[in-house]
Amino acid sequence: MKAPHHLLAAALAAASLSSFGAAPADAPVRVARWKGDAKGAVSLYYDDGTGSSFHNALPSLVRRGLPGTFYLCGGWFGGEDDPNLQRWGKAAKEHPGVVFLGDHTWAHGGVTNAAQFAEEIARNGALLRRLAGLPEDEPLSFALPGAVRWDVTREEQAKVLADHHEVLRHPFEPNIAGPKDGNNPTFSMRTAADAAKAFDRAEKEGRWESLIFHGIGGDWIAFDLAEHEAMLDDLGARVKAGRLWVGSAIDVHRYAAARDALRLTTVEVSEDGLDFRVEGDPGQQLGVTAPRPTLVCSVPADWTRARVRSELFTFGSKELADRARKGFEVPVSDGRLVFDLPLGWVGVSIRKAE
Ligand SMILES: [Zn+2]
Repeated sequence: MKAPHHLLAAALAAASLSSFGAAPADAPVRVARWKGDAKGAVSLYYDDGTGSSFHNALPSLVRRGLPGTFYLCGGWFGGEDDPNLQRWGKAAKEHPGVVFLGDHTWAHGGVTNAAQFAEEIARNGALLRRLAGLPEDEPLSFALPGAVRWDVTREEQAKVLADHHEVLRHPFEPNIAGPKDGNNPTFSMRTAADAAKAFDRAEKEGRWESLIFHGIGGDWIAFDLAEHEAMLDDLGARVKAGRLWVGSAIDVHRYAAARDALRLTTVEVSEDGLDFRVEGDPGQQLGVTAPRPTLVCSVPADWTRARVRSELFTFGSKELADRARKGFEVPVSDGRLVFDLPLGWVGVSIRKAE
């Protein structure tokens, strides 16, 4: 099963913003650029597993249901039973889809060759998956440790990451958080208003913006706690209004990979509704926790609800088959219908719900 994962890793690494956008906005059906057909995507990164990010950022994210990725170095703890390490695994298990653990290498000490890099992430990645209760090949987001020696070529790095089911995280510049009263130009994001500029860019340009933090109200390179709260309130409001999708680092990568691989074919618009086929869905190859792609359909403006169902699917279980045939209802607003494509559906049928 190695080869498909290499292909998958290549797809994950190559998922880009450029290949999107073949279908016009008024097409009968299109794959949404971002989950829920949000205008833009945002990811929040918390590096180094700081105690302040655990106490000050994690509960705030959980309370609002906004995902964040916490990049840990296993070697910084006193063994796997260390309660300061165990608490991260407990949080990830208790809040799936919100608390994500990311690989920041075992020791954060840099590497002098590709073999050492492979050792670092094999050990750290296995630990993080165990802590979070994930399968051993579930993709993880990887963050390069800063300010250390890194003697690995880009090609070597890409191969090691692919071999270990890890994906280099999306760049975060210029969204690098630092102290409110600081004057280091590297850490130029100091307030909620600074972060809002990144959110505005994501919305206006359809971009994926990533923000990086270390300490939150404590530890090192600390972002102000009140500003962090204000930032999450702003972000939560934008999510609620359907303007932004906040996804973990690995989920936005996986969403983009699935989106770019999907092809919607034999689209038939009739008096009754809309029918089409789905090809190229990577499904669970992207991991058991991968987000499903969002589809957006144009239907007659007088529809208020629609039934979405399938007669053509890849699973054999009677229960799943019955569920696909029965389908589900979706509200329609101004002739626009938005839903997440269920796993295994190859044909989709949209009809007005009576
Ligand atoms: Zn770091």
